[in-house]
Amino acid sequence: MPNNTPMQHACSFCKRMVTIHNQYDMPIYDPQSGFAICRSCIKDIYHFIEEHEDEQEIEHKKEFADTLDDTLHKNRPHLIKQYLDEYIINQEHAKKILSVAVYNHYKRMKYGYTNNEDGTEIEKSNVIMIGPSGCGKTALLQHLSTLLDIPFAVTDASSLTEAGFVGADVEVAVRNLYYAANKDIEKTEHGIIYLDEFDKIARKSGENNSITADPGHEGVQQALLKMLEGSEVEFTARGQRKHPEAPTIKVDTRNILFIVGGAFVGIDKVIESRLKKSDANIGFGAVVKGKQDKPKYDELIHQVNPEDLMKYGIIPEIIGRLPIICTLETLDEDALLRILTEPKNAPVRQYEKLLAMDNVELKFDEAALRAVAKKAIDRKTGARSLKGIIEDTMLDVMFDIPKSDEPRRVTITEDCITKGARPAIENIVSPASA
Ligand SMILES: [Zn+2]
Repeated sequence: MPNNTPMQHACSFCKRMVTIHNQYDMPIYDPQSGFAICRSCIKDIYHFIEEHEDEQEIEHKKEFADTLDDTLHKNRPHLIKQYLDEYIINQEHAKKILSVAVYNHYKRMKYGYTNNEDGTEIEKSNVIMIGPSGCGKTALLQHLSTLLDIPFAVTDASSLTEAGFVGADVEVAVRNLYYAANKDIEKTEHGIIYLDEFDKIARKSGENNSITADPGHEGVQQALLKMLEGSEVEFTARGQRKHPEAPTIKVDTRNILFIVGGAFVGIDKVIESRLKKSDANIGFGAVVKGKQDKPKYDELIHQVNPEDLMKYGIIPEIIGRLPIICTLETLDEDALLRILTEPKNAPVRQYEKLLAMDNVELKFDEAALRAVAKKAIDRKTGARSLKGIIEDTMLDVMFDIPKSDEPRRVTITEDCITKGARPAIENIVSPASA
C-alpha cells in the first residue's frame, strides 16, 4: 500500500468516517486514545456557543432592565427628595434638581436596555453643581449614592492633567469609581463620578484676569469630553505603571452619571454683569429680584446660565455635556444651627447618643450652638467645620465622663465654645427623671 493514501478516522462525536488530508480535517485528534472531533462538529459547537452567548447577554440585559423597574419604582423624585431631607438642611432647589436628574438617569438606562427602535436618543443627565465651599455638595451626593446603593467616587478635578503631562490622567476618575465598586465592572458602569473642584480647571481667559496663561486646563476639559458623553475608558490597575504592555481594565462610561461641582468663586459677579447689561432698558432693580432678606449671592446664583459658565472658562463642548445646572445657596447661621441638631446624623444628636451610653445627659445651650455656627461662618468653611468645632469642645468631656458610672448632666454653654471654658457636669438622680 502506498504511503500517501489519506488516513481515515472516525469522529468520536458524529461517528462519521473522515478522510484526513491535513490536520484541519480532524482538528482534535489524540492518536493514543483515538479520540477525535471533526471539523464540521467543531464548527457546530462553535456556533452553538456563540448563539448561546448572545442569548445569555440578552437575558442578562432583560434581568437588568427588570431590576431597573424596581429601582425606578423605589426612587421616584419625591421619594429621593424625602430621603435627602432627612440629612440635608435647606437646598430645596438642589435636592429637587438632583432627584429628578437621578430618576431620569435611570429611565434613560432602562430605555437603552429595552427599546430604541424609533431612534429617539435620551441625553445623559450629567449635572454641574455650583455652590459655595462647605454648602454640602459632597454630602448631598454621598447620601444620594447611599440611597441608590450604587458606587460613588469623588475625584479632585484640579489634580487631573492632560495625557502626557505630569499628574493624573482623566481616566483616574473612572479608576477611582472602579475601586469604589470593589473592582466590579458592571457596578462601576452604573455608578456616579463626582468631579470636585471643577472650577479649578476653568480656562484662564483674559476675562478671568489670571496672571499666567494656562492652556493645560483647557486640555483637561477636552480630555474629559468623551468620558462625559460615554466612551470606553481604559486604565491600568492601581500601582501599575502605565506602559504599552501593561494589562488594562476597560469600563464603558455610557451609563455612568457624571456630576461636576465647585465653588466657582466670582461666578456671581459674572451673572450680575450679564443681568445688568440685559436689564439696562428695564432698570437695574430687576437684577436682584425676589426676597430682600436673602443674600445677594443666593439671588444671583440660581440665575446662572451656560453663557456665564462659558465666560467663567468652561469650554462650550463641556457645558453641552452637562445639561443640568444645580445651584446651591450659602448656609447662614440659622441653617448651620439646624445642621447641628436636625439631620439624622447631626453632630449634636450623635454626641447625645454617645454620652447616653455613659448614663449622661448632654445639653447644648442655644447660645452655644449659635457660637459654633458663628465660628464656622468666620472660618468661611460652611458646614464642613461644624463637627470639628464641637469635637474640640467635647474632647475633655468624652475623656473624663467614663471615669465614673454616676448619672450626670453635661451642659455646654457659649463660653465653652468661645472661651474654652470647661463644660458644667452635675450629678443627677437619673437622666430620665431630670
Ligand atoms: Zn464529527
